[in-house]
Amino acid sequence: MNIGLRREDAGVDQILAAASGYLTIDLGALRRNYARAVSQVAPARAAAVVKANAYGLGAPQVTRALLAQGCRDFFVAEFVEALELKPTLPSDTNLYVLNGLQPGNEMPCAQAGIVPVANSLEQLKRWHETAIALGRTLQVILQFDTGMSRLGIPPCDRPEARELVNASRALGVLYVMSHLASADDAESWQNPTQLEEMQRISEEFAGIPSCFANSGGIFLGSAYHADLVRPGIALCGGAPTAGRENPMEPVVKLDVAVVQTRTVPAGAAIGYSGSFVATAEMRLATLAIGYADGLPRSLSNRGRFYYNGACLPIVGRVSMDSTIVDVSALAPNTLQLGSLVEVIGPHQTIDDIARDADTISYEILTRLGMRYRRQYC
Ligand SMILES: *Cc1c(COP(=O)(O)O)cnc(C)c1O
Repeated sequence: MNIGLRREDAGVDQILAAASGYLTIDLGALRRNYARAVSQVAPARAAAVVKANAYGLGAPQVTRALLAQGCRDFFVAEFVEALELKPTLPSDTNLYVLNGLQPGNEMPCAQAGIVPVANSLEQLKRWHETAIALGRTLQVILQFDTGMSRLGIPPCDRPEARELVNASRALGVLYVMSHLASADDAESWQNPTQLEEMQRISEEFAGIPSCFANSGGIFLGSAYHADLVRPGIALCGGAPTAGRENPMEPVVKLDVAVVQTRTVPAGAAIGYSGSFVATAEMRLATLAIGYADGLPRSLSNRGRFYYNGACLPIVGRVSMDSTIVDVSALAPNTLQLGSLVEVIGPHQTIDDIARDADTISYEILTRLGMRYRRQYC
């Protein structure tokens, strides 16, 4: 918790014990999800994607748990993320930078022993020049665009990339790689089309292992597993495939405190702009969570929370720091100041919230705020 309190200050324990929200991250469940991915793809191996602070769950804690589970390959998105993580990793691990390197970062990257993903011929050439300048072989992953048009060497540059790799002893290519655009949709035409292209690339770069599947790709069948898979969301408990039962265990639980309760008469306007008007007498609770904590404002008048399994619909707009729910489903006085209400938990998954907010579980997780008391178990 990032509120400037020091552990040794008087009364801190009591203040934290009465925090207005608790984010619980189950590292045991995370480890079991990784083990599930490992057994699903064997004999291929499983890396872990821990970009964006491990999807908001805390890169140091998540990485430590996955190391204990045997993971030795980690992907982040940005070079700065890699620099922060690298000193915490044992020497037998690999750390890769998905977004590749900005010009000027080659030397510090090489010196830190971080492996970039080269997404263009230009990046590959700069990395090659760095290797020559250092008089060393530098490891690299080559990413190819197989139909997502986001990152990676385009088909027209493949011959030149291959020539450079074949001619140079200064480049140690660990994997050829690509990324699926629609892996969460098992029926998408893009999956087999991208797989075919990936297989063509593997043949062109004969003898180099390949790395292809994200979480969704792991559940598209063994043809997609290649040599190394790169799950992220599935490790965090998100559903890898839309519309199918989620084989992963939930990792995150979020409970927030009631900061006020009240009863309003019919006709009362609720929240900013009075976007909800009570049609009858209603009992309400105001909760300590808002869009500044990562609760999407699009859940205004749409989302819901739970208390002991009872559904508490959001009424009115989600504010910056608070949200009002209709608690008429509960017996009067059930909720008191300080009572905890379930935002994410047994009755509502990150995928449920994402659906109501018209987004994806990734966005829910990566926006989870820092005002809660975070506890790891
Ligand atoms: C984020 C990302 C992943 C992980 O994807 P999930 O769907 O979270 O498993 C894998 N590969 C690349 C290139 C990514 O950007």
